[in-house]
Amino acid sequence: MQRIYMDANATTPLLPEVFEAMRPFYIESFGNASSIHQQGQQARAAVDHARESIAHLLRCRASEIVFTSGGTEGDNLALFGILNAENSAAEEPAHLITTQVEHHAVLHAAEALAARGLDVTFLPCTSAGLIEPEALRAALKPNTKLVSIMLANNETGTIQPIAELAAIAHAGGALFHTDAVQAAGKLALDLSPKGALKDVDLLTLSGHKMYAPQGIGVLFVRRSVRLAPIFHGGTHERQRRAGTENVPGIVALGKAAELAERWLIAGAQPLGLASGSANPAELRKLRDHLEQGILSTVEESGVNGAGTDRVANTTNLYFDHIEAEALVIALDLKGLAVSGGSACQSGATEPSHVLTSMGLSDNRARASVRLSLSRLTTAEEVDYALALIPAAVARLRTLSPTYKKAEALTVA
Ligand code: PLP
Repeated sequence: MQRIYMDANATTPLLPEVFEAMRPFYIESFGNASSIHQQGQQARAAVDHARESIAHLLRCRASEIVFTSGGTEGDNLALFGILNAENSAAEEPAHLITTQVEHHAVLHAAEALAARGLDVTFLPCTSAGLIEPEALRAALKPNTKLVSIMLANNETGTIQPIAELAAIAHAGGALFHTDAVQAAGKLALDLSPKGALKDVDLLTLSGHKMYAPQGIGVLFVRRSVRLAPIFHGGTHERQRRAGTENVPGIVALGKAAELAERWLIAGAQPLGLASGSANPAELRKLRDHLEQGILSTVEESGVNGAGTDRVANTTNLYFDHIEAEALVIALDLKGLAVSGGSACQSGATEPSHVLTSMGLSDNRARASVRLSLSRLTTAEEVDYALALIPAAVARLRTLSPTYKKAEALTVA
């Protein structure tokens, strides 16, 4: 059976070029980047090169890149690193502002800080999933040290007005962190002093959401920012993150950054891949075709976060009268991998905190499914999904007591 993968927001496939780039660093060039012999020097040079590639993608300095083990560590390092540094000398507890729609890597870190006595505000979002700039302005206090708001939501793809939010945080005297795990490699990010993200002080990204392997990530830390490390050990990463570097992972992320850069330039040469989209506009066309095709054939369905600016690969759809989990399993049996809620909370029966924050009922949140395409997704795969999904929804609805009731009411 053909298998189709539409869960790229959970993890992206590893690109063959990325795998080839990292392979020698497991076998021939396996040295520790801190060693002074030749193997160590080779590893160090590769780490330096990767750091430059990632800095180029983000339009920042190489010295502002801190390698981590992934998005969760980057988010924790940003929140604890800033608040530990800022709170140590203060008499009144520091204030952190974040939002109700963050990934758990930020949400649970913020809750842990609150449990330690820090003052934490969780901003609500609009029904479209957006954080209102005015709400941030009103929440700022003299002791607000950090604002952390994600760039693109992992469940809906909604893009926050980060440049404006970061400028408001700065005007209020606070630092600004953004979790860009679902934006890096999908959107052009410019952290340069005149760039759109010039007011962003810290930014998290994760390798396995941008075609590099799991277990590698980056925290961008602007040069002026004082960060207290959360790991204690060696002097790696300019004393911001102790621990022997994951050289193969870092090399892979560097290569993935170079490929992302080429893909992000509209009209760029195709990557030399057999299939897939050559740039974000092509990917958006595929996503829109999929979304429109489903909406036009499945009644009582809709897009969560419709009408907002969303990353090109993501759609989050509700199908009233079904359980998302049942649909995910039915589609998996037919060879299509999608996700209900966020994969990082798998096993949880609670409805998505993002969707309920947007005002969806628990039932509608539980009836919502995320389809996230990758750069490798083809038009044929989208057509196959379009053939499968309406039929699977219709089948599940025949089992739904509420759907039958709704039909009976319509007939009456
Ligand atoms: N932040 C966002 C928005 C995510 O989507 C994820 C993973 O799904 C993370 C953070 C955590 O990243 P990692 O899996 O690399 O720890």
